Amino acid sequence: MRAIVCQEPGRLELVERPTPSTVPPGWARVAVGHVGICGTDYHIFEGKHPFLEYPRVMGHEVSATVVEAPADSGLQAGQRVIVNPYLSCGSCIACRQGKPNCCTAIKVLGVHTDGALCEEIVLPAQNLYPAGKLTPESAATVEFLAIGAHAVRRARVCEGARSLVIGAGPIGLGTALFSRIAGHEVTLLDASAERLEMARTRFGFERTVEAGNDVASVLAPLTDGDGFDVVFDATGYARSMESAFGYVAHGGTLVLVSVVKDEIRFSDPEFHKREMTLVGSRNATEEDFRHVVSCIESGKIPVQALITHRTTLEALPVDLAHWAHHKEGLIKAVVEIGG
Ligand SMILES: [Zn+2]
Ligand SMILES: [Zn+2]
Repeated sequence: MRAIVCQEPGRLELVERPTPSTVPPGWARVAVGHVGICGTDYHIFEGKHPFLEYPRVMGHEVSATVVEAPADSGLQAGQRVIVNPYLSCGSCIACRQGKPNCCTAIKVLGVHTDGALCEEIVLPAQNLYPAGKLTPESAATVEFLAIGAHAVRRARVCEGARSLVIGAGPIGLGTALFSRIAGHEVTLLDASAERLEMARTRFGFERTVEAGNDVASVLAPLTDGDGFDVVFDATGYARSMESAFGYVAHGGTLVLVSVVKDEIRFSDPEFHKREMTLVGSRNATEEDFRHVVSCIESGKIPVQALITHRTTLEALPVDLAHWAHHKEGLIKAVVEIGG
């Protein structure tokens, strides 16, 4: 089969590889349909991922068609599915508590193990969910949207809450979309005027604020000085995460969606006087994937506005290298591999 291998940072190659020969008990074989490219993939390509071993086949945002599946899995050959790329151990404390998204031994397909930028993969049948009425292309957006859906679910704030999403990249946009679906009044904050323009024109987010000097005084009137009931940080910048504490209302919640390697600092009196709830949000679970599928089915997510770029396995080495340095107008690129 054809596969794209990242041989070392900066070098992607289209190669021939054997198709996976064995399917372990409880696992399924799927033909890859479409794969979304995300920030993690650009990091792997650029050698910025902290623990990555090369060579690596990337690809963790996956729609596929079942080739063979265990009889008791409820999956049929020919069925279209969405891949949950978080491979969990099933026995650690997090797995025992129904939180495989933060399994202590988690392996992410396409990061810690070879992923889906190829024609066929095998993985546990329990990591496959029916794609419902979704097109094969839109099914490849479910994973990154599920991260935003998970963050919103983790926030546990009610309808009518005033939310601030910091970072209008794909994860921030996904978070903002699910925050709006949850009935929140959403404000988006980003340093890029171009991204905010896309958020307004493509997704109808009217309240956008460009980061710059004295953002706090621009944000304050949006809540009559109260602060936001919930703030989501999806920037991947420690300084932004630290500032985010200051935008939370008394009694409010801060959800850290993106992760940084650095330590972050905050003022305990500011945190304490608000009785703030600080929440980490990592990956997503089956419940989030299914919520995303039903929101796309009911037309609440404008998937076609999210997919801005398309390519094929053959063209990917050139295209991905280009997009790594030219992200103007890019939200989500999708690779078409099979039907
Ligand atoms: Zn991703
Ligand atoms: Zn586990």
